[in-house]
Amino acid sequence: MTLFETICVMTATFAAVYIYLTKNSNRKSVEDFPIRFSNDKNKVKTQKGWKVLLLEKKKFPRDKYCGDAVCRTAIEILIDMGVYQHLIKENKAHVMEYRSLCSPGGLSYIWGRPIKFGEIPVAIACKRILLDESIAMAAKRMGADLKENWPVTETKFDEDTGLWTVYKYGTTDTLTSRVLVCSDGAPSRLATKLGLVTRPPDSTCSRTYVEGGTHRFDADGVVFYNKELLPGYSALFRHPNDELSFSVNVIPGNPKVVPEKLDYWHNWLMKKDQNISRALGDNFKMEKMKTASLRLGGEKRTYDDHVLVVGDAAGMTDPMTGEGIHHAMEGGKIAAIFLDEALNHGNYDAECMKIFHQRWMSKFGDDFKWSMVFSQMLYRFPILLDASTAALQRKSDKFVAKWADIMTGRLPKIYMLKPEFSFTIIYELVRLTLHRLKGSNGKQKKAE
Ligand SMILES: Cc1cc2nc3c(=O)[nH]c(=O)nc-3n(C[C@H](O)[C@H](O)[C@H](O)COP(=O)(O)OP(=O)(O)OC[C@H]3O[C@@H](n4cnc5c(N)ncnc54)[C@H](O)[C@@H]3O)c2cc1C
Repeated sequence: MTLFETICVMTATFAAVYIYLTKNSNRKSVEDFPIRFSNDKNKVKTQKGWKVLLLEKKKFPRDKYCGDAVCRTAIEILIDMGVYQHLIKENKAHVMEYRSLCSPGGLSYIWGRPIKFGEIPVAIACKRILLDESIAMAAKRMGADLKENWPVTETKFDEDTGLWTVYKYGTTDTLTSRVLVCSDGAPSRLATKLGLVTRPPDSTCSRTYVEGGTHRFDADGVVFYNKELLPGYSALFRHPNDELSFSVNVIPGNPKVVPEKLDYWHNWLMKKDQNISRALGDNFKMEKMKTASLRLGGEKRTYDDHVLVVGDAAGMTDPMTGEGIHHAMEGGKIAAIFLDEALNHGNYDAECMKIFHQRWMSKFGDDFKWSMVFSQMLYRFPILLDASTAALQRKSDKFVAKWADIMTGRLPKIYMLKPEFSFTIIYELVRLTLHRLKGSNGKQKKAE
């Protein structure tokens, strides 16, 4: 029997972190790491290295339904891993130099500038079928034990030995590990079975690809806030070879826009949202719509004895943007750095594993409640989005850069309440309200 000291259920994002760790730790190899079981005399006293076992139920390349927008925090980790450079060189990712947004009241704003060589862009678009494979294979090259076509059906913990047994679906194959990392996506079946996650996913999102050369979209990426869909939104992102991804995010709060009606809204927006239909043109060729679930806002408990929950499984998705790639990667990085320390001390008890939960909550999870508050405010007062867009139009690059950092989770959403943002938005709000009142008075007079 092989003793694996760490196990990871699912490959993509956590694998990223494996590479980060092996590059940044002082260990010469994965076998070089001594494990001490200091806190329990009954546990096997052994000196073994720690390995990362990556289990993926499908075979790479495998698709993951996603809008494919990868923000700067994730890009930095991909650069650290050498994966970003490969994706750009192979023309598998498109750098979003210019991004724009269309507000519910019809205002729009374009920001960005040409990316200089060596600069980290705000975002790239990369098909997950390509991205996830690149990450997983990079992890494998670094020494992770990647097992594809390995659907985990059950996990059992033996308190006497302090080991997990992991069962493969439909076979008698098992694997053993010291620590289990559940990162099996938004449905979070494994963490739910363990009783750690106790609710179903909150929402859903769609994605379709539009064939290159069949549309009229000429930007890199645009987020469309249609009043009817709020607090959700839709987006078009450009991929290499002129291909596009079109996605529609349902964010809870609007009784008319519920996950069961995603199909309807996806089609409605393509026909009725003037900006989207103009961008798609009359002859676009689009594949069939795909959907997958979103688990928003963070789970209350993402740890237990010898177990961590990471990524979508832990609800590491921003409730305002529905984006989670960067949080899953950052969460994975926090988990990996934490496990490095825990392994050093040989302590995997819940009390110790709780530190992981506290770290990711203080890094970005605590801010999710503000994301939820702001998204509900946008639903009730769509004019706030118009005012924000107007502010972006009038303010300096520094203001825009900070705003982009807030939207992509690099700065907390609560920063929106800082005077530089709140006062500016209130000012624009008053201006817009007066302008609209004048406009409606004018129309009324004309009608009279
Ligand atoms: C339609 C859609 C659009 C989105 N658009 C964006 C976007 O543009 N930008 C953004 O940042 N975020 C976006 N998100 C969110 C983003 O996709 C997730 O936050 C991200 O994929 C989380 O990564 P993860 O590794 O935690 O989970 P996943 O990417 O879901 O990976 C889970 C992995 O676990 C494997 N697995 C599951 N169960 C088992 C099992 N029992 N045994 C073995 N393996 C298993 C799966 O096959 C999969 O490979 C979108 C989500 C959706 C649904």
